[in-house]
Amino acid sequence: MDVTEIDRPETHAAERKWTVAEVEALFALPFPELMYRAQTVHRQFHRVDAVQLSTLLSIKTGGCPEDCGYCPQSKRHAGAVASEALVPVAEVLRAARAARDQGATRFCMGAAWRGPKDRDLEPVLAMVREVKTLGLETCATLGLLRPDQALKLKEAGLDYYNHNLDTAPDFYGEVISTRQYQDRLDTIEAVREVGLKVCCGGIVGMGESRRQRAALLAELANLKPYPESVPINHLVRVPGTPLAEQAPLDPFEFVRSIAVARITMPRALVRLSAGRQELGEAVQALCFLAGANSMFQGDKLLTTGNPQISEDQALLGKLGLTAEVM
Ligand code: SF4
Repeated sequence: MDVTEIDRPETHAAERKWTVAEVEALFALPFPELMYRAQTVHRQFHRVDAVQLSTLLSIKTGGCPEDCGYCPQSKRHAGAVASEALVPVAEVLRAARAARDQGATRFCMGAAWRGPKDRDLEPVLAMVREVKTLGLETCATLGLLRPDQALKLKEAGLDYYNHNLDTAPDFYGEVISTRQYQDRLDTIEAVREVGLKVCCGGIVGMGESRRQRAALLAELANLKPYPESVPINHLVRVPGTPLAEQAPLDPFEFVRSIAVARITMPRALVRLSAGRQELGEAVQALCFLAGANSMFQGDKLLTTGNPQISEDQALLGKLGLTAEVM
């Protein structure tokens, strides 16, 4: 395909449907051309000097019955982390207050469940109500959700629900066997139906091909509407998980993934998520140039490491970026 035929920013209608071939053609653009296009779209829809900060707290760690190949919280893997009880509401509130004081505008609560049992949901609803009183946006990631559970979360004041597609439909079975792609789409639909905003992205570097990375981004971009937040994770190769020995992804391929996410989902917050420690400052700077405008702040992301807050603040300072204020 001639690069001049590939989508231009001004043609981004809400109803645009992307084929995998079109998205793959974006990936294949000369790097400067891809960055130029991503930056052009970025400037059309976002401030160029601002990065939104979110903080993620694990409210229920470990013991998960699912078998996601990248995840140390699965009790099926040799390297599984210990299972812990649900964190008390007061502790969640303390963490949320600290996150707000350090510049976060969104507080995400994650639980290692297949999906919440009804008795689990009640304390989470209390957490959402309490965190909202701090003036933070709230997000939860609790696994598969029924429509009635989504409604309860919405009524408690939840703003976003996170549920990632993880990877391309035809690679998904290589990574997870205990739930299906359609289960994930059903949860996203249930969340949308009740008026919650959607945070949905994936993980790159799990051994998928470029075409499969393109297929993941096409799936996300073709959701109607596409997610408001798109976390792009870089695989963290955690010892004792099935993907521990996965060959590392070329860093430029990660940057390309960010740029393609920006071009195909122009209004979304594109969030640098897991794996930032491995990327280093220079690659993260390229990601911001490619259109990333959000990141997780805090020294831990559920169970894996994340840069120290002081390191992030130093990096933002060096790049002349500021934390976006709601
Ligand atoms: S990613 Fe979530 S659902 Fe999968 S094993 Fe980990 S905690 Fe469980």
